[in-house]
Amino acid sequence: MSSFNFEVISLFPKAFELINNSGVITRALDKNLIDVNLHDLREYGEGSYRQVDDKPYGGGAGMVLKPEPIYKAYESIRKSPKSKTLLMTPQGKVLKQKDLVRWSALDQIIIICGQYEGFDERIRCLADEEISIGDYVLSGGEIPAISIINGLTRLLPGTLGDPDSLVDESHNSFLLEYPHYTRPLIFKDMKVPDILVSGNHEEIKSWRRQKSMERTLERRSDLISNQNYKKSPQSKRIIKEYNQFMEFRRGNEYDIYPDW
Ligand code: SAH
Repeated sequence: MSSFNFEVISLFPKAFELINNSGVITRALDKNLIDVNLHDLREYGEGSYRQVDDKPYGGGAGMVLKPEPIYKAYESIRKSPKSKTLLMTPQGKVLKQKDLVRWSALDQIIIICGQYEGFDERIRCLADEEISIGDYVLSGGEIPAISIINGLTRLLPGTLGDPDSLVDESHNSFLLEYPHYTRPLIFKDMKVPDILVSGNHEEIKSWRRQKSMERTLERRSDLISNQNYKKSPQSKRIIKEYNQFMEFRRGNEYDIYPDW
């Protein structure tokens, strides 16, 4: 089995040392499920100073990554036919679990990390997708890139000890995951809910489903009203179940899709 290939263009490749020390992802590297090639932007810099950035035309604060080094680094990468190039930018589409799932069917992701004020506008055309990891601004694209490498790698077969962990987890459907408990049974006067030690698997399943719904409603009701989720058969089933649950809990006032 060939490994999933990440090619990363960054001015601070050292930041990626984190993935050599992060549990599941490090194991995936050791097992050759993934390989990560770092392209140090500095090596593609211009002139004897290997210049990679310059002042913005029109003035203003900060430095901008020059287009030539990024192009050169990009052109040095051997592209697979099943590849996508992602540009890290707070102006991009906000990363969702479904993007990671979609990309996990490829065999290569090329990631371009910005720094400083960002990059010259003319590199945008290299990207298939522009991705933001949230509505806040970091100083560089390295942490966003690591987030993508991490989140995608754990979806690859053979990475997680038990692939079932992917089924229930938050954001896999539009529900957040139910609460977890492990030993001890009583910790600082807080007891594990009786149902979880009852041994009744059907009831445990339904308790967990109910907790997932409550939790989603309380914390992220936007996930449920997100129209995208209406499309899949799985979500139709869950929304129906959700509506029944809400009917049971508060009457009909929360019926989110009454036309179903
Ligand atoms: N001046 C730019 C922000 C530059 S931040 C602007 O206002 O759009 C410097 C670099 O960090 C960016 O080029 C990008 O690669 C990365 N970055 C910062 N925040 C990010 C986020 N939320 N998602 C993805 N990349 C981000």
